[in-house]
Amino acid sequence: MTEPLFARLAVIGLGLIGSSVTRRALHPTPGQAQPIAGEVVAYDASPAVQARARELGIAHRVAEDAADAVRDADCVMLCVPVGAMGRVAAELLPHMKAGAILTDVGSTKQSVIREIRPLLPDGIAFVPGHPLAGTEYSGPDAGFATLFDGRWSLLTPLEDGDPAAAARVARLWQLCGAQTQEMEPAHHDKVLAIVSHLPHLIAFTICSTADDLEGESRAEVLRFAASGFRDFTRIAASDPVMWRDVFLNNKEALLEMLARFSEDAQALARAIRWGDEAFIVDRIERGRRIRRSLIELNQA
Ligand code: NAP
Repeated sequence: MTEPLFARLAVIGLGLIGSSVTRRALHPTPGQAQPIAGEVVAYDASPAVQARARELGIAHRVAEDAADAVRDADCVMLCVPVGAMGRVAAELLPHMKAGAILTDVGSTKQSVIREIRPLLPDGIAFVPGHPLAGTEYSGPDAGFATLFDGRWSLLTPLEDGDPAAAARVARLWQLCGAQTQEMEPAHHDKVLAIVSHLPHLIAFTICSTADDLEGESRAEVLRFAASGFRDFTRIAASDPVMWRDVFLNNKEALLEMLARFSEDAQALARAIRWGDEAFIVDRIERGRRIRRSLIELNQA
């Protein structure tokens, strides 16, 4: 087998995403062209998560402190909530070796770049990234090695960044099973606002609306939850800290999409009020077309 892509990979934050990356790096799939890393070092700020990661055996080594985790690593991947990215990068960067790559998996890209770019010393290449894969579960038990198979991983390299470093991070995601594409950060945040952040906002809201119903009605919502409501509850079960940070760090794009959504919902409400059948059917058919396209693209 060929040389590993990185001699040492350090993954910081051992939740769903971080522990999925370490699992994949630790156990290359049969036939995988190249191992991701010779050594996988993992770190999480929480001693309980560190202990669980050791029990699960999801890395060659789970470090007790952040500086130790990144020392001599060729690539350091930040898998913490986006609100913590700047703080964590500031803590780690002084301990990283010259020539190393820093990357992240945060769900918002402009905010992460805004926080990390001013901290970068000479000799460290920063390659922002975002794998479009996830579940509603969090923590080190939630990760699995095949999470990224067949999914997209978007990279939003800095304009003055190192293209060779970006190519190596793209390779890392490809070895995790993902397809990669480069995107401009503002465009990323706009696209993700509609495909991910707004659907989560709607799911949290619909659950809160149901939760606010008076006694008997609320009990019946839960007892008779049909598939529509049930699907929203799956999305709404996602991690509160992660989603608080996503909303606060993609404020503009999310509020813009929410405003458009609210106008469109009002238009549908008006069509229902006035019995505009053609309008109602057109909206439903558009939904069906989008669903069919997703199935054809293997993203359903
Ligand atoms: P998660 O399961 O909640 O894991 C996050 C982990 O980071 C937790 O173990 C947390 O520990 C730890 N952490 C928090 N602050 C830290 C710090 N200062 N230093 C070291 N570790 C710290 O979250 P996740 O779903 O893996 O998300 C991680 C990142 O991936 C986020 O930026 C998110 O936006 C992005 N992302 C998530 C998804 C998804 O669907 N879940 C998809 C793509 C990208 P504590 O629990 O003790 O705080």
